[in-house]
Formats: sequence, structure tokens, C-alpha cells
Amino acid sequence: VKFNFCRRCGAALKQINGHVYECADGHTIFANSNPTIGVFFVTPDDQVLLSVRGIEPRKGMLDSFGGFLDGEENFQTALGRELKEELGLEPIDYEPPQYLTSETGHYPYQGETLSVISSFFWSRLKPGVTPIPADDVAGIESFPIDQVDFDRLHDDDVRAGIRALQQVFSSD
Ligand SMILES: [Zn+2]
Repeated sequence: VKFNFCRRCGAALKQINGHVYECADGHTIFANSNPTIGVFFVTPDDQVLLSVRGIEPRKGMLDSFGGFLDGEENFQTALGRELKEELGLEPIDYEPPQYLTSETGHYPYQGETLSVISSFFWSRLKPGVTPIPADDVAGIESFPIDQVDFDRLHDDDVRAGIRALQQVFSSD
């Protein structure tokens, strides 16, 4: 994302370097990535469950479950909220999510491209728990962890998350 005007005084911004902008009044503005969380569920027979995106951008492509952090939410709160919204899951329905990796991605939104920084986790559903797709999840697809179709994953951050998951499961 390119920043044009200072959010503090409205003056034009000058790009100092990379993500650092400054206006004539000396305000420094940082164009940092937008944080998101993503979760991969692994079945007892080591298949990974993925979300079929129900909204643009990249509707119909595969994604992790999760989304953007709201306001000053922390990662664990956002994770719990997103799994409730997208799959109807409560924290007692899944094992404590394990951190995998983080990676940057690029998300087209309203005519510009947002930089995102996604933190990925994996977990297993408790026995008898069935996730119900809702919100921006159109469906759920499962793949053997080493046979995920990378061309159907919607962005580079999710591809990095799957690669990290594959590493966890190649060592056991
Ligand atoms: Zn300013």
C-alpha cells in the first residue's frame, strides 16, 4: 500500500524509505503489514482441512481458516473469534493450536493491494466435532498433507503455511 497523505495533519507524505513516510510537519507514518491469523485442521488420518473462499478476492480458491485481526485484538482472541464465525467452533472443540510460521501476503481490496502478515497455526478437532462452514467460508475440502494443490491456494502466505505444516508431518 502507498500512503499519500499524513493521517495526523493531512499534509502530503514523502516516502523516506520502504515503509517509512514523513510529512512536512515532521510526522513519521509507518506503512506496516496488516496482521492476520490462519488455522489448518488436521484429521486423524493426517489430511488437512482447507477453506474454500466464499468471497472475493480469489473466490473459490483455497485458504486457511481465519482472517484479519480486528482493532487491537491479539492473535489468540482473533483465532477464537474467526473459528467461531467461520466454522461454529468453540475452543473446547479443538486441541490448543500450535504455532507453525508467519509469512507475508498481498490481498487485493477495494482497488489497492494490502500487505498482510499472516501467523499460521495447526490443530486437531476433538472426536465427534463437525465444523459447519459459515461467514466467508463456502465449503471445506480435505487433502493428504503432502498432496495439497498449491496452484489452488490463494496467496503466498498460505503456501508458506502449508509448507511449514508439511515439514511438521514429514518428520514423524
Ligand atoms: Zn503530518
